[in-house]
Amino acid sequence: MLAAIAAGLLIADDPPAAQRERMVRDQIEARGVRNADVLRIMRLTPRHLFVPEELRSMAYSDRPLPIGHGATISQPYIVGLMTELLEPAKQHRVLEVGTGSGYQAAVLAQLVRHVYTIEIVPELARAARDRLHQLGYPNVTVREGDGYKGWQEQAPFDGILLTAAPPAIPPALVAQLSSGGRLVAPEGPAGNQELVVLEKKADGKIRRRSVAPVMFVPMRPGSAR
Ligand code: SAH
Repeated sequence: MLAAIAAGLLIADDPPAAQRERMVRDQIEARGVRNADVLRIMRLTPRHLFVPEELRSMAYSDRPLPIGHGATISQPYIVGLMTELLEPAKQHRVLEVGTGSGYQAAVLAQLVRHVYTIEIVPELARAARDRLHQLGYPNVTVREGDGYKGWQEQAPFDGILLTAAPPAIPPALVAQLSSGGRLVAPEGPAGNQELVVLEKKADGKIRRRSVAPVMFVPMRPGSAR
């Protein structure tokens, strides 16, 4: 009885840090993500401040959550896995396509030099820009626009990460990868998507591998297609 009451109090009083600790341990580490920097940053990043207020109590649960305009903040494990696959390093400049809430950008921002991120829905782009600014991630630049074109003015990128799924990886994005750079993305039609990693070799050749079946919101056809 006393133990049950104590447990109840603990849950009621569960600070986000404890929820994050469990999220990282049970959902991300337990499934094989090993990059210590990625795990450390996901323990620190306040995911609950990136979801709509009415969903805050679910921010650390093992699932994606709707963030409006047909977009979702990805499942924590998927964020951890994709970030690890990108092999981020302190000096890297990274492009993200699909800013959404800004959470993935915030995670990346703590692992690389600069994150450039593109969002096609103006309201989401604006909200993410304000949020990232308020929470103090100065090395993220948010742009409203069509991710199919990439960000030519800032290319090449050491890493490119897509969080919406195109039917096929846009060639413009592969062109904006630096030599040795990696692109991590869901690819394929709804219901039949794969997480793929493309690596640009020193000779310009692309090495490609599939990692896992995934479910992402489709990338909206932009003006560049
Ligand atoms: N990385 C986000 C997840 C966003 S879901 C996060 O951490 O919250 C995918 C996002 O891609 C949605 O916000 C959607 O509006 C955006 N998107 C879809 N098609 C796009 C396109 N062509 N260019 C840029 N963004 C796009």
